[in-house]
Amino acid sequence: MSALSTTTPHVEPQQTPVNLMGLSLLQMEQFFFELGEKKFRAQQVLKWIHHAGIIDIEEMSNLGKVLREKLLKIAEVRPPEVASQHDSSDGTRKWTIRVEGGGLVETVLIPAGKRATLCVSSQVGCSLDCSFCSTGKQGFQRDLSAAEIIGQVWLAIKSYDAFGDGDRRVVTNVVMMGMGEPLLNFDNVVSAMDLMLEDLAYGLSKRRVTLSTSGVVPALDRLAEVSEVSLAVSLHAPNDELRSQLVPINRKYPIARLLESCRNYMAAQSDKSRVVTVEYTLIEGVNDQVEHARELAVLLQGFPCKINLIPFNSFPRSEYRRPSGNAVSRFWQVLVDAGYIVTVRSTRGDDIDAACGQLVGQVVDRTGRSGRHRAASEAQVIAVG
Ligand code: SAH
Ligand code: SF4
Repeated sequence: MSALSTTTPHVEPQQTPVNLMGLSLLQMEQFFFELGEKKFRAQQVLKWIHHAGIIDIEEMSNLGKVLREKLLKIAEVRPPEVASQHDSSDGTRKWTIRVEGGGLVETVLIPAGKRATLCVSSQVGCSLDCSFCSTGKQGFQRDLSAAEIIGQVWLAIKSYDAFGDGDRRVVTNVVMMGMGEPLLNFDNVVSAMDLMLEDLAYGLSKRRVTLSTSGVVPALDRLAEVSEVSLAVSLHAPNDELRSQLVPINRKYPIARLLESCRNYMAAQSDKSRVVTVEYTLIEGVNDQVEHARELAVLLQGFPCKINLIPFNSFPRSEYRRPSGNAVSRFWQVLVDAGYIVTVRSTRGDDIDAACGQLVGQVVDRTGRSGRHRAASEAQVIAVG
């Protein structure tokens, strides 16, 4: 018997490398502290990844050879894997991202003049099953990691090849309005939003990062303690009976509790001039009547908000329809007459299915179009000014 066949092979214990892409400044400092390294290493690595767009640890020249070798054994910087990229004739760009373990999520960049808003996903699918949302129809698969969330911002900027040109402003606004309910993936979303605001990463103003929620009240209360991002709330109905049909989580946290939680969130902000964006998807014959607008005007009296109307985007097997332009105008007029600031989302990226609701249909039903992501891309442009 040869020596080779009798030797028991030495197998190194498998250790999953830490993906440094998703670590906030504090988490990165903790990581280097545990390695016995100085705090400033965290700042250097953040800048390499998020300012310079560098993901190869060997290229991080100011870390020194010994530290780089140490890092290569235990860490990596892994951006999202792009399954496809599409450009719309109106300048909207959509990436479909393949996540580990299967499943696809979507990120959409919507340019508007000197600004561009990035619509970011937080989960693969969604468990909340709103009746008009194709992501909800897909069901919930899993939360995205912080690296997978902030990686969408990294990817958008990298994709425009803006690194190194001194122009990293290709993304001026971020909205958490892609797939998923961000407040049900609380810790990862908060870490990723910290990086969006962090000067050593993306340095966006807190006004220009918006979290949209369908109303997970306890998580919104927690968010008030840790975050200062802008808030958008998906209302879609002026009373509990109708809202519970459209947004099932309303049965658990009805409108009065949701609006109170929004008020508390705004009260916790240092800048008292900020308002909540109330999102209202208009569905023909369901919630788009003049009476609904009047009821909404009464409901929101004294509530610090602006209203964003989203004409419904259809998707396969949905029984709902988009209202006519006239119906949208009538609804808008009632609210304007009542003194509200009201915007209507225009459709962007329609030709590449980049509008709110459109990705999930492709995942679930590869033959058809869907409607959810369409609204996301529309939303960014108008609702988040
Ligand atoms: N889960 C969060 C954020 C993602 S959805 C939320 O519900 O707020 C982002 C926005 O798109 C929400 O206002 C949502 O109601 C809206 N939306 C979902 N499906 C839509 C559709 N088919 N047409 C128009 N807007 C839609
Ligand atoms: Fe989930 Fe938002 Fe879609 Fe409702 S609208 S199912 S909360 S992604």
